[in-house]
Amino acid sequence: MRYISADYIYPIASRPIKNGVIAINDDGTITKVSPLSGIKVPKSEIEFFKGIICPGFINTHCHLELSHLRSKISKKSGMAGFIEQLIALRIGFSKTEIKTAIEKAEKEMIDNGVVAVGDISNTNKTFVQKAKRNLIYHTFIEVYNLKEKEAQKTFFKGMTLLSEYAELTGTEKMCAIVPHAPYTMSVGLLKQINFVSHELQSTITIHNQESKEESELFISQTGKLKDSFEKMGIKVSRIPLTGKNSIQSTLPYLKDAGKVLLVHNTYTSKEDIKFAKKLFTDFKKQLWFCTCPNANMYIENKLPDYNKFIEEKVNITVGTDSLASNKSLSILEELKTISIHFPEIPLQTLLTWATKNGADFLNLPELGTIEKGKKPGLVLLKNVKEMKITKETKAMRLL
Ligand SMILES: [Zn+2]
Repeated sequence: MRYISADYIYPIASRPIKNGVIAINDDGTITKVSPLSGIKVPKSEIEFFKGIICPGFINTHCHLELSHLRSKISKKSGMAGFIEQLIALRIGFSKTEIKTAIEKAEKEMIDNGVVAVGDISNTNKTFVQKAKRNLIYHTFIEVYNLKEKEAQKTFFKGMTLLSEYAELTGTEKMCAIVPHAPYTMSVGLLKQINFVSHELQSTITIHNQESKEESELFISQTGKLKDSFEKMGIKVSRIPLTGKNSIQSTLPYLKDAGKVLLVHNTYTSKEDIKFAKKLFTDFKKQLWFCTCPNANMYIENKLPDYNKFIEEKVNITVGTDSLASNKSLSILEELKTISIHFPEIPLQTLLTWATKNGADFLNLPELGTIEKGKKPGLVLLKNVKEMKITKETKAMRLL
């Protein structure tokens, strides 16, 4: 039995406890969380840490397979510039370089307090590492194709990759086929994913409104993304000219899935949030919005307006995106960026996004909160000033 205490415990399921104590049995399960007065053991048996203890972090959006691209893409290139550089970097890396970068990135996540990851896979490059089960992964097999005639073919290619994943990792539940982004999907492919996701009640994700240009493709078929697509020989005319922005053109095709996570949402307006909420019977159980602030700053130099999402009471989670658009895979670094730009958001709210909400989205009830019977992992946050995460705050994994 271990007894761990700190200046404050943030159980997330309840209010912070000053000088709280967490009792943990030998297999890491929490047996009690209480104020110091509720624990009947000598003080010498309690390990005390200076700082705040919160549950392990859940990274709901990552592309572990792109870890070898750290610092390879120039910052603030915009979405079109980012995609062009990413495609040019597809070749030129050895299998060993890619494998080593994946191992290193995973270790980095573990060290900085991440306990579970929602990870996008376009290839099988991360499967062997994921099969080691160092971290809990929910793998999203991502597909894209604008050609209507190839919808079935593309979906089945995704199915083949999914089967390979399920076989290698021994998990059939923690994976799904997901759409890449509104502007890379044919309607047929979206419908196919919606149908299967409904049948299996899957948990799915889609990149959403990461750039302003993606909506221009649906409204007027103009802009920088259009120019980039044409340079790559992609027919932009395949994108339906709906006159509406990307989320309003696409999300109605995905409303029957079990759970949907919209990733980025940098340009999502209050009207868009209201539109998305209305599509679902119970948006609290079906709809999530993931923010990846450091990737947004890296690519677009812009952040979502979090207050709109808070006002609309939607579920928010936090992701790191990949090392192609981020200098680290650290949830704390993401929270720092939000906290610096939006100091009015309370620490309890930020930590809820980074822990409980991610666990709820990924169907991991044993994680996300510090409560009796759970095994959430524990993270110590040092140098939190006046209940605010600052540039100096550090995360240390305790469990
Ligand atoms: Zn992404």
